[in-house]
Amino acid sequence: MLLRHTPEEIVERQALMINPAKTCQPIGAMYAALGIHGCLPHSHGSQGCCAYHRSTLTRHYKEPVMAGTSSFTEGASVFGGQANLLQAIDNIFTIYEPEVIAVHTTCLSETIGDDIPQIVSKARDEGKVPEGKHVIHANTPSYVGSHVTGFSNMVKGMVDYLAEDGVEHKARTINILPGYVEPADIQEIKRLVKELGIDSIVFPDTSYVLNGPQTGKFSMFPEGGATVEDIRRSGRSMGTIALGPLASGAAARALDAKCKVPCEILDLPIGLNKTDEFINVLRKAAGVTVPDSITIERGQLLDVITDEQQYFYQKKVALVGDPDQLISLTEFLVSIDMWPIHIVTGTPGKKFEKRIAEITKDIPHKVNVRQAGDMFLLHQWIKNDPVDLLIGNTYGKYIARDEDIPFVRFGFPILDRIGHIYFPTVGYKGGMRLLEKILDVLLDRKDRDSPEESFELVM
Ligand code: SF4
Repeated sequence: MLLRHTPEEIVERQALMINPAKTCQPIGAMYAALGIHGCLPHSHGSQGCCAYHRSTLTRHYKEPVMAGTSSFTEGASVFGGQANLLQAIDNIFTIYEPEVIAVHTTCLSETIGDDIPQIVSKARDEGKVPEGKHVIHANTPSYVGSHVTGFSNMVKGMVDYLAEDGVEHKARTINILPGYVEPADIQEIKRLVKELGIDSIVFPDTSYVLNGPQTGKFSMFPEGGATVEDIRRSGRSMGTIALGPLASGAAARALDAKCKVPCEILDLPIGLNKTDEFINVLRKAAGVTVPDSITIERGQLLDVITDEQQYFYQKKVALVGDPDQLISLTEFLVSIDMWPIHIVTGTPGKKFEKRIAEITKDIPHKVNVRQAGDMFLLHQWIKNDPVDLLIGNTYGKYIARDEDIPFVRFGFPILDRIGHIYFPTVGYKGGMRLLEKILDVLLDRKDRDSPEESFELVM
């Protein structure tokens, strides 16, 4: 009953957000930076921002997330943070010896107007960047966009700083930009690409950085991550497949403009159709045939859909999360005859509403969709038109509890459950997992609410 004061009556708000459905740009930038091997993310701003970003990532991934901070105090806030960043670059390379420092800005340093490329170039001139080491950056003002924008900016920064042209000698490799997905999703994407026999460069790659094994030993820079050499070579690949237009599109286009690597920008491979699309584009791009092992996985997902569809038919669903995920998830749910009727993302972008409207156009029910929306609005929609299921990040649990709705945790952040970083939701296997999670909560609810005479062993 925590949100019991949420009124049913909806009033249009212009300048007020209540319970945002997003978090701040640097969190996405920090997550992306962790996908480079040997990289230390660095937050150019106050310690409080960095502590918040690190703690959110640590709580989601259940791994200690390392990052530096320029530790702005009153002086830097007034005169700019150049001295702090120069000192930080010097200290970090001397003490922690990373391969790369990935600097992202914060609201404060953006408002001051610190020129990061100028400061980095001064650090280089003063010998503070050792030979063979790199400092890259992304501007991540959090008063625009969301964590997805920050992620996208940092991935583009990787291309801008590290990718190298090789027009004359294009290699047979294909770049995969996996998007803002879980480490397990990246692992699954890599597995599928390998199954197809394709030589790929995947970046950013947080698998085995944020979901590595427990070894009993602390490692500042875990095994995983795309190496600087990988990202450098991406400029010589024969093509790029970018997954998630918002998270990966900008970097893919930048790589095309910088190194003439043609790109194809796809939706995230969540669900049967979107995974088919991904496999098909990969197959054509690399000129390979799909092996039986993948066809079998596809058939298994199809089998699960066939068995479970009777329970999903015309169930109304509310969704909250990031746009790339929601577009594919909505398509998946519609394809199994569910009715996603309230859909909110906190990330701005007009195309989102148009895409969702297209995907849901055949649902014989009014569909509410909002970009740059908030969870207060979602709650009001649900109060006016109740749903059978809510899918979203941890913050959705308050609405689920208040309205007594079955709830599936999906997306970022998930702060109150453990294990999600090891199980993909992309690909055919990810589709099976998603369906299992959805069916479990629906049937658990049915069990809970059944009177004794209809409490069935076999459902
Ligand atoms: S919104 Fe701005 S001030 Fe707040 S934590 Fe994020 S970067 Fe820092």
